[in-house]
Amino acid sequence: MSAIINDIEIIKAKTTKINDVDFDNLKFGHVFSDHMLECNYENGKWQTPKVVPYQGITLDPSAKIFHYGQSVFEGMKAYKDADKNVWLFRPLENFKRLNISSKRLAIPELPENYFMDGLQALLEVDKDWIPTNEGSSLYIRPFVFASGNGFHASPADAYKFIICTAPSGSYFAGDVKVLIEEKYSRSANGGVGFAKAGGNYAGQFYPTQLAIEKGYQQVIWTDDNTHEYIEEAGAMNIFVRINDTLITGPTSDRILDGITRKSIIELAKSEGIPVEVRKITVSEVVEAAKNGSLKEMFGAGTAAVISPISGFGYKEADYDLPQLEDTYAAYLKKRITDIQTNKAEDPFGWRFQVK
Ligand SMILES: *Cc1c(COP(=O)(O)O)cnc(C)c1O
Repeated sequence: MSAIINDIEIIKAKTTKINDVDFDNLKFGHVFSDHMLECNYENGKWQTPKVVPYQGITLDPSAKIFHYGQSVFEGMKAYKDADKNVWLFRPLENFKRLNISSKRLAIPELPENYFMDGLQALLEVDKDWIPTNEGSSLYIRPFVFASGNGFHASPADAYKFIICTAPSGSYFAGDVKVLIEEKYSRSANGGVGFAKAGGNYAGQFYPTQLAIEKGYQQVIWTDDNTHEYIEEAGAMNIFVRINDTLITGPTSDRILDGITRKSIIELAKSEGIPVEVRKITVSEVVEAAKNGSLKEMFGAGTAAVISPISGFGYKEADYDLPQLEDTYAAYLKKRITDIQTNKAEDPFGWRFQVK
């Protein structure tokens, strides 16, 4: 559909930082590859993207990103298999969601080939940065923000689309105890909760700090209106297993349409696991914890794929989850990562080879 852009200019870094990197001890998102993709929106259109050396950005103090927060991003990963083939996981979904987020924040949408061809040009230049150790990957961060100037509270007339990458080790958060939130909200009807907008994260940090002070690692967001429904786990979608049924809430204005979430739903269904997409009440989860039918809870998102929850707090009481031998969390995580890394067949057509 979209033409390949052959005229992506590539300006190579004079030196490489790769020899300074300890690929056996990578944290998450701390070292950055040699290059980045840069694309500017000016004079009413997106200009051809360029691959340039990873570098700082100079902005005017009046740039609208600083004042009005027009900023959206994506998170995705590239993997290298044993034969050095490079793979992405459902990248078109990230592209589409970036534009859905942009539209909500009055940011001009990107052409598909600028995203897809730009990303592949960047990965071609920095392919040596894709780690191969078990569980590691090249984390990819595409983002768009308002670089145009002026204190007037209106959309900017200039934007930057950038893709940076960071070789990252496996993202293991350990045992996660979560607090079911009764006061603060991540999102509201008619708001921007469905968009991957930077400001959504800013609004989460303070309530999360309060939860951490109380001894939890994450917040379970509930609906802004009644706080009676469980919606997301930090910046991940949430799944609850009651008896043998896997349940997750329906996406909405308030719940982000996660690619990991929808992959888990499809995969679980195809493996014969009963799946329900419906609203989850806090009271049914508390009840299930009390009567022993609550088997698992986990978060789902690109960074960790699946992050198991070991217990939760609600109204001054703590509830522990059982420590099962065979969990849906471990099974589904392995199935998904095997597909992502070309260790298993991909009947869904999710894997995308970078050529
Ligand atoms: C990014 C994100 C997710 C997970 O989306 P994936 O596409 O699976 O990475 C879930 N919830 C929120 C709020 C997010 O920002």
